[in-house]
Formats: sequence, C-alpha cells, structure tokens
Amino acid sequence: MLVAGNWKMNGLLNDAEHLAEKLASGNTQNRNTEVIIFPPFLHISAVARIVQKFDIKTGGQNCSVAESGANTGEISCEMLLDIGCSHVIVGHSERRSLHGETDALVAKKYAAALDVGLTPILCVGESLEQHNSGETEEVVVRQLSSVRETVGLGGLCSGIIAYEPLWSIGTGRAALPSKVQSVHETIRSCLGDEGAKTRIVYGGSLNSQNSAAMFAEKDIDGGLVGGASLQAEEFLRIIKMAERL
Ligand code: PEP
Repeated sequence: MLVAGNWKMNGLLNDAEHLAEKLASGNTQNRNTEVIIFPPFLHISAVARIVQKFDIKTGGQNCSVAESGANTGEISCEMLLDIGCSHVIVGHSERRSLHGETDALVAKKYAAALDVGLTPILCVGESLEQHNSGETEEVVVRQLSSVRETVGLGGLCSGIIAYEPLWSIGTGRAALPSKVQSVHETIRSCLGDEGAKTRIVYGGSLNSQNSAAMFAEKDIDGGLVGGASLQAEEFLRIIKMAERL
C-alpha cells in the first residue's frame, strides 16, 4: 500500500518542521506501506532531514519540464532529486485548472521526472460536470493516453496513478469505494499486463473514517491525502488503516 500526503501551499517552515517531527515519531515503519509527503518546495529539505531516517519519503508537488536555464521561478526534476526527493506529483487538478496545465504539458513533466529517476505520481480525474454526464472513464483514459503517447506503456506503468475526481477534492465528499474500484479497473485495463503491479491510488476527501473501506477494494493501492495530511494524528491513522491490509 502507499499513503501520500500533499501539503499543498500550507504552513510556514516552523509548521512544516513540527508536522514532520510528529509524523516521524508516530510512524511505525511497518514496511508493507510506503509513506511519501509532499511539502511546499521551500520546506522539502528541512522536512526530509527530519523524516528520512524514519523511512518517510519526500517529493515535489510539481516540476518543470526544462532541465535548467532561463526558466524564472521553476524547479527542475534534477533539483528535486538533488535535495532528496524520490517522487513528484504531476497533473494535479489544481495545476490543471488554476495554472492551465494541459494533458500535453503534464505528459512532458511525467517524462522529465522519469528521465532523472524520480517516480511521477500522475493525477487523473473528472470534473463534476463530466461526472454528471457520465464521462468519467473517457476523461481518465484520455489523460492516461496522453502520457502513454509520450513515454510509452512501460514508462506509464513505472509511475504511480492517482485517481482524483475533482468534485471530491477538498469537499468532504469522498467517492464511493465501489465506484472508485470500477474506475481503477478501467485504469488497470489501460495498463495491460505490464500494469499489474502499478500502484493506482485514490485521492479526494480521504480521512480515517473512510480510508479503510477505500483501501479494502482490490484495485485501490492506497491514497493521496490532501487536507487530512496536515493533521499528524489523522494522517497517521490513515497510514495505520493501510498497514492493516
Ligand atoms: C488532493 O488535493 O490531492 C486531495 C486529495 O485533497 P483532499 O484530500 O483535501 O480532498
């Protein structure tokens, strides 16, 4: 299982260090569950120093497609790797909707991450409108195909897929586990035999009350947690749910 915490643009350095310390002291290091946290860029180094010996990994919430050079304000994949990151989130819905990231750009970011040896977590998912008009599978398949066309099936399967319906992110309305399972089956079928071991995780209002039922589904290999990852006790409870499976 895999439990990832996306801290988004929250907290100051002091808050990040406190949260990291609480996670480090509470993490049981039960190794059937991989734990990765995604602090804001500026806090990654400090957080990594605190958590790495407790087997908690760190990653970036975004990355540049460029390797280096004249890209003011951007952070390259190699820079993330250099400060101890193992993972990077690409195509989070907030990047797509608030920062205009297209499927093509997300695919390039995915490729840039693979090129330096970072594991990308590709976020896919439909809007409420698309959900209501029954387009979920179509949207998700299109988002996956764009990455597959850029990095090939092997490349796609070597990352992690996070299914995050937009209408459930930050709303307190997690999707029904059975419905998530069905979307994950569609995702798994797009990956073919090579994707049998690819982790497909769910994200959207996960908490300690709903994660056990979610993680119990066959094709749900863990979760990407936003809001609940900012409270150490709650995030640790979600990790415990994953460890039981
Ligand atoms: C997210 O933003 O990736 C997310 C899943 O957020 P939340 O858990 O707060 O819905």
